[in-house]
Amino acid sequence: MDKDCLFCKIINNVIPSNKIYEDDLLLAFNDINPQAPIHIIIVPKKHIRSLSDISQDDKELLGHIQFTISKIAKSFTELKNGYRVVNNCGNDGGQTVDHIHYHLLGGRVFGWPPG
Ligand code: 5GP
Ligand code: ZN
Repeated sequence: MDKDCLFCKIINNVIPSNKIYEDDLLLAFNDINPQAPIHIIIVPKKHIRSLSDISQDDKELLGHIQFTISKIAKSFTELKNGYRVVNNCGNDGGQTVDHIHYHLLGGRVFGWPPG
C-alpha cells in the first residue's frame, strides 16, 4: 500500500466506494464521475503506478484483470452489445490517478478516435 495513493485508500476501505467485485488480487468499483451509464474502475490491489511500470512478475496479474473484466461485463445486460476497456497511461494518456487501473465503460455507443 502507498499511503498517499487514492486507489490504495479505496482498496483498504480508508475511502468508501461502491464495490462491484472483489477478490484477493483486485477490486472493481463504480467511478465517482461516470462517463457512461456503466463506468467501473478495475484496480489490482498491488500498487503499480502505471502500465509503464509493470514487470515480468505482473503478467499473471494482468491476465487475471483482463479475464475478470470480461466476467464482470458478462454480468451486466447493458453490456451485451459491447463495451469499451480503457487504460490511461501517463500524462499524455490522461492518467490522473497514479495506481494502474482499467475503465470498463458501456451502456452507450462510443465514437472513434477518442478525444
Ligand atoms: P484516470 O483519469 O487516471 O484514467 O482515471 C481516474 C478515475 O478515477 C476518473 O475516472 C475519476 O472519476 C475516478 N476517481 C477519482 N477519484 C475517485 C474517488 O474518490 N472515487 C471513485 N470511485 N472514483 C474516483
Ligand atoms: Zn496505490
